[in-house]
Parts: sequence; structure tokens; C-alpha cells
Amino acid sequence: MRSPAAHSLRFFAVLCLASAIPGGVFADTIYLKNGRKITATHVVQENGQVSYETSAGRLSFPLSIVDRVVHDDSSPISTAGTAADRAANLPIAPPNELAAPSKDAAASAAVRDGTIDSNLLSRLESEATANPSPTVVARVVAAESAAAQFEISVGDFERAVDHYNVGLRFDPNNTALLLEAAYLHLRRSEYSAAKDLLERARRLDPDSAEAAKLSGWAYYGLNRAADAVTEWKHAMELKPDAETQHALEKAERDAQEEAEYHEGETLHFRLKYNGGAAPELAQQVLKTLESEFQEISATLNYDPPEPIGVILYTNQTFMDITRAPSWSGALNDGRIRVPVEGLTSMTDELARVLKHELTHSFVGQRTGGRCPVWLQEGIAQYMEGKRSRVNAGTLSAAYESHMEFSLLSYETSWLNLPRDAASNAYAWSLAVVEGIVTVDGIDDLERILEHIAAGSSAEDAARAVLHEDYSELMLSTAQFLRKAYE
Ligand SMILES: [Zn+2]
Repeated sequence: MRSPAAHSLRFFAVLCLASAIPGGVFADTIYLKNGRKITATHVVQENGQVSYETSAGRLSFPLSIVDRVVHDDSSPISTAGTAADRAANLPIAPPNELAAPSKDAAASAAVRDGTIDSNLLSRLESEATANPSPTVVARVVAAESAAAQFEISVGDFERAVDHYNVGLRFDPNNTALLLEAAYLHLRRSEYSAAKDLLERARRLDPDSAEAAKLSGWAYYGLNRAADAVTEWKHAMELKPDAETQHALEKAERDAQEEAEYHEGETLHFRLKYNGGAAPELAQQVLKTLESEFQEISATLNYDPPEPIGVILYTNQTFMDITRAPSWSGALNDGRIRVPVEGLTSMTDELARVLKHELTHSFVGQRTGGRCPVWLQEGIAQYMEGKRSRVNAGTLSAAYESHMEFSLLSYETSWLNLPRDAASNAYAWSLAVVEGIVTVDGIDDLERILEHIAAGSSAEDAARAVLHEDYSELMLSTAQFLRKAYE
């Protein structure tokens, strides 16, 4: 989302797409006085506000509209990972049946002592090429699957995909392997690739609940909420479970609303808007987004593989669907959601909002959802055209008086930040990114994202590319601010 200053919000909520939810939390239910029920985690009540965690980040609203909150300690919901976009953030567990049960001899031989035995893998592959008997092929599949899972565990997804592809070359009809590979693509927000694998799995096993469940996810990621509903309903018939139910409810809300929406489509975007938004505005939004897409793509040297969903709301529907309070601005939870009440044509402010949110989509897809929040917000602000001039004096003074800003503390969710702390976090995030781009060049920024995508922490990425740890990066930022603006 955009910084509080940009929207002069009466209250402030961090609705950033990159907000992370720690695992092992419990679901609570908030009952509103108007009868609505919200399932949420980390419900906190303070200063006349109730705030709670959603996959779209932390939201809050006045205590006066809340009837009661019921804490439920009995049903832990899994919230895996620090995924960036809403679909990638779905708490859906990997397929049950893995292609390489760990007891398999080939699997345990393929990965030993923290490395992959590539000699063994090539030997197994040659054997299977020479003699593709079921036993030999099963060994290759088990070994490649184990190797893929190892690569996933160390964050090298490219290599994991390669291992799955080798396994599938020898055994194209192995449903477990197809599901595993599809799951990896889903986690990487590569929904079309996942869908292809899932279609193959379903031809082989039409009654697979796992295949239906993961297909729902693929459609949801492809912004096809109605198809996602169909798949998840089917999965619930075959084998009901809580995470599918939860995903289904979310998709049903979207599908119901979007059924009444008009659509627009360009090369990179799927736009939906309801009757409250002017069709001319929708066309202008698409045109603006396409040209911003070209600029961001050229700057970051990257094209997101999937079309980007954009939804224009009148303010009331924005609130209903996103469950965001009325005072919140645009947000990006995998789709770009923008309230446009009262607007009939493009404005400079709307163009900036779109560019900011679009940048989040680029960075989210580029890093497979692994980009820390400070870097996400820094890049989004930089791309929308913000610079540190107005804040330079304050930031420099803060740095000199050892008012340390800790990048490490701002990597994960910006939860519960008081307004001042949030403004400060946005300002430093921009300054750090602006410093990197100005001093080191945009290529270095791009390489940092590449390292993060490959599984590095952001600080390790900074070390590898800039040869600076976080404290050195803060020092360079302070030096940059002084040089550029004093
Ligand atoms: Zn943002």
C-alpha cells in the first residue's frame, strides 16, 4: 500500500502486500454489530480499535462496530511462508502423497549430508534411458523428487523445476510427481505452468481431491474466481478440509461480486470494474497501466510471467470485498485493488497510485514473494517518482544522533506500527533504495532481487551485490542523503 502521508489517512493501517504472518497461529472470529462475521488471526484490541491479520495485511476498525470477538484456540490454521501475493499467500499445504517417500533407497542416496549426489543422478538417468523398466524408472523419479525437494529447502527453485522435469521426462504419467511440480509452480506464482501440469494429473486421476484443490489455486491466481469456486467445491466433495473451505469462501466472495463486473483486458492486465466506475475511466486505467508496465519492465529488466489482475471499486464495495476500512487507500494483495469513487478520468495522483501498486506486483513476482517489506516499499515509492529531498534533513539528523533505523526489523510485516514509525519506515525505505539506484545503479538493485529470488536473505543479497551488510548500507544511505541533498 501507499504511505500514510500520501493519503492523509485519518487512521493508519499497513495493508502492504508483503506483510508476513508467522506460522502456527490460531483463528479468531470477530462478530460485527451488523451481523457480519470475520475470521481472522492475531486479533488485538487497543485504543478503541480492533485490529487483525488477513492475507492482505493488518486491518483495523473502530471497536464501536464490533459486537464480540471469539478466540478459538482449538483450530490452528497454517500460514506458511512470507508469500507476497494473495494467491501465493493461500495457506495450502503441499500434496499429501510425495513422489519420493524418504524411506526410498534411491531418494536417500540422492541427497546425503546436505548435498545432491549428481553422479548418482546421472547414473540412474543413463540406466533408465538404456532400460526403462518400471523399477528403474521409479528409482529415477524418487531420486529426482528428493533432489527437487532438497533444492526447494535451500531456496533454489530453478533447479528444483529442472529435477521435476527430468523425473517427468522418464515418467510423464506420475500423478504424485505432477502434483508436486505443480505445487512448486503455484508457490512461485506461475499459475499457467501449474495449470498445465494439473490438467495432465486430472486426466490420469479425475477423482484426485489434491488435483482439484491445487487447480482451484491455479485459477484463483489467474484471476478466474468463478473457476476457482468450481474446483474448490469439487475438492470439498471429494475430500473436505479446512484450508480448502477457507479458500473457497474467499473465492466465493470475489466471484459473486465480480459476476456483476465489466471486464477489460490488455496484454498484461485483466481489469474488472463495477457499474459505479465509468467505462472511460476503466479504459484510461488500462492504458496507463500498460505504459507504466513498459517503464517498470524496462527499469527492472523483468516481465512478470502472469497477467496482473486489477479491480476498480466504488468505495463501499472496496470495503466489503477487501474487508478494509473505509479510510484505506489502494492495496495490492496479488491483485491491484483501487477505489475510484467520484473519479471520471485519469489524474496524476491515480497514475502514481497505479504505478506504486504495479511495482509491488513486479517485485512480488520477481522474488517469488520473498522480498522484504522495506525493499518492496522502497522500490514502489522510487518507481512512483518519490524522492528523499523532503525527508533528507530529518533522516540525516536521526542518523547522526544514532537514532538507528533497523532494516532487519522492517523486513517482515509492518504490524502495529504507530503512524510516525510507519512514516519513518517509508522514508528510510525510499532513501535506501534511492541511494542504491543513484550510487550503485539500477543493475545492482536488479541483482539484489535476483539473489532474493534465488533464496538469499535480503542482507546476504546486499552483501553479495553491494558488499555491504545492513549497518554499512545504512551508513551509505546517510552519506548519500548528505551528498545529494545538503
Ligand atoms: Zn506499498
